[in-house]
Amino acid sequence: EAKRGKSLGWCLYEPGMGEARQAQAQLEAELENALLDDELVVYYQPVVSLATGTASGVEALVRWQHPRDGLLTPAQFLPLAEGGDLIERIDAWVMRRAARDVRSWQQSLPAGRGLHLNVNFSPARLQRPDLVAEVLDELAAAGLDPHDLVLEVTETAVLEVGRAGPHLAQLRARGIRVALDDFGTGYSSLARLVQVPVDILKLDRCFVHDGHETGPSVAIAQAVAGLGRALGLDTVAEGIETAEQAEQMRVLGYAGAQGYHFSRPVPAAELTRWLTGERVRPAGP
Ligand code: C2E
Ligand code: MG
Ligand code: MG
Ligand code: MG
Repeated sequence: EAKRGKSLGWCLYEPGMGEARQAQAQLEAELENALLDDELVVYYQPVVSLATGTASGVEALVRWQHPRDGLLTPAQFLPLAEGGDLIERIDAWVMRRAARDVRSWQQSLPAGRGLHLNVNFSPARLQRPDLVAEVLDELAAAGLDPHDLVLEVTETAVLEVGRAGPHLAQLRARGIRVALDDFGTGYSSLARLVQVPVDILKLDRCFVHDGHETGPSVAIAQAVAGLGRALGLDTVAEGIETAEQAEQMRVLGYAGAQGYHFSRPVPAAELTRWLTGERVRPAGP
């Protein structure tokens, strides 16, 4: 390639690398603005009770409506935010936005009564010195009861973040529940995990397969259900895409499930329609 002659910079590092860094820096700056310009959107996915088939809660999942690149998923932009304090601000924004939406479903829809909100917290947000006061303020501002909030954290986040333990204990003392997300994919030992103050285990979707299967993932799904029973924790299965999978998880003892079988993550207005018509609408792909 004839890039050498382009500028001195090209002699110092791999061709193309400068462009990649520049694109990343630009995207980071755009993300900062997105937070101010209302380009972030919260999508909601129902958490369904396997006993009743109705939504017991919703998980808030952030999206970025990028003016040029379209709708971006968390994997496409959250890593950019993880270097600085941007991720904590995004988490706080999602929590405030979602708490207001859930409060309004609770007040306006029969199917919204008692609905709880699941939000994902980054390790960075878990470490904030004033986390407890901030979360309680955000709930109060939306009029949402602490008992209606579930914080989703990953094994690695709680185990590696020393400060998270006391925070989680204080939040739980106020009635807020803690869920271990993507359960089974971390590398923590069970001995350490049982010391973490949590209420809910969310089985990662990689252990959910074809409903007829009897392989190792079914054994793991079964073991996690048993662990939940033994420790008195609620269990939720993620990534349920078929009726067979939902039935299998119900039989294994899972209290709740989430997945495309029930609903994909959707914008607030669409979730309102889902909540209103959930008993008559067929679960499409
Ligand atoms: P997660 O918390 O484990 O969320 C579940 C992910 O699985 C979501 O991906 C959801 O769209 C996807 N999913 C749900 N049901 C199915 C299914 O039946 N099949 C398949 N194949 N996938 C399913 P999404 O929305 O792309 O989010 C990815 C991750 O990004 C989340 O994983 C969470 O860790 C993170 N995330 C999302 N929103 C936030 C946020 O506001 N703050 C932070 N810190 N992290 C977030
Ligand atoms: Mg989650
Ligand atoms: Mg998960
Ligand atoms: Mg996951």
